[in-house]
Amino acid sequence: MSTTRLWRPVKGVAQRRAFSTTPRVLDNYAFIGLGRMGYQMARNLQSKLPPGDTIRLYDINQSAAEKLAGEMKTQQAGGAAPEVSTSVADAAKEADVVISCLPEPQHVRSTYEALLNDITGLPPRPQSRLFIDSSTIDPHTSSTVRQLVEDKLAGQAHFVDAPMSGGVVGAAAGTLTFMLGSDKSLVSRLEPILLRMGKRVLHCGPQTAGLAAKLANNLLLGIQNVGTAEAMLLGVKLGLDPKVLADVINASTGKCWASEVNNPVPGVVPTAPASRGYEGGFGIELMLKDMKLAQDAARRIDLHQTMATKALDVYEKASKDAECKGRDFSVVYQVFDKTNGQGP
Ligand code: NAD
Repeated sequence: MSTTRLWRPVKGVAQRRAFSTTPRVLDNYAFIGLGRMGYQMARNLQSKLPPGDTIRLYDINQSAAEKLAGEMKTQQAGGAAPEVSTSVADAAKEADVVISCLPEPQHVRSTYEALLNDITGLPPRPQSRLFIDSSTIDPHTSSTVRQLVEDKLAGQAHFVDAPMSGGVVGAAAGTLTFMLGSDKSLVSRLEPILLRMGKRVLHCGPQTAGLAAKLANNLLLGIQNVGTAEAMLLGVKLGLDPKVLADVINASTGKCWASEVNNPVPGVVPTAPASRGYEGGFGIELMLKDMKLAQDAARRIDLHQTMATKALDVYEKASKDAECKGRDFSVVYQVFDKTNGQGP
């Protein structure tokens, strides 16, 4: 169904835009990939868009799109009109803004190849199209997709990377932090869109800079987690109460997110996954995926990594352990404990 374009004042989420009187066209959105993150992000986006905008939903699992559209339609607050799409092209052909949230690099590449094949040659949109990929993938693939977009839709579309942190809880609460890699001139268009799904947008530099920042951060997190597990185990084996040790670390120079918020020793932080059998949290498989992406990015620029290689090995082996599968990545402490520090 085609949406008639009308002119009306902006009713944005960001305070500074709420008072704007600049007229703009109604927007058509497409959201591709409605998994654990995308489902929640699309829900927040739709509910914060003004009625009159349209959001087309697509996932290879069509029941996810149907379920979400049903939920959106029963919401009392209004928001953009949801439509279920049966193909990526159907979702994207009239879209001014396409947001993708897909699992792996190959999914992003094949999705945009299909999308570009089908929309190339269509009349241009009133403003250049924005393709916002929020998937955590490697910068090389992201750059290849941008090049494809430039080759096929020169001057009519921009592809940017906007990976996020905050997890499923942040996606549901609309409090994600986006790390944006895009041309500076696009930030003012991109920011209000992302702020409908999150609370912070950090512009990191040109396209792929968001992914570079995301992978560097998660690499550090992955190493810190293994280091924290090893340090905590040393203290415990030397006879320290783990809570006392955590208090010392967190008042000292060893303090980090893994020691303070996500401490890997059961009972130290009541809200941490370790205190509930390592359930929930950031799955060890996702950490493994991000470490591999970081390693791949380093390999492409001939950068040697010492700690990352060792930490990756720990996650790789631990993720094959039946007791670790599907659990929070801090479960490596349990593996070190069981093997007297040998690791998996
Ligand atoms: P997920 O596996 O739960 O969801 C992915 C969705 O994409 C699924 O619904 C799947 O059916 C769909 N999909 C797969 N291929 C498709 C295609 N070709 N076309 C359309 N839909 C397709 O993954 P997720 O947890 O939502 O993560 C999505 C991305 O966000 C990943 O890159 C992940 O690394 C990143 N991320 C996840 C988290 C997290 O805590 N889950 C946090 C930050 C970033």
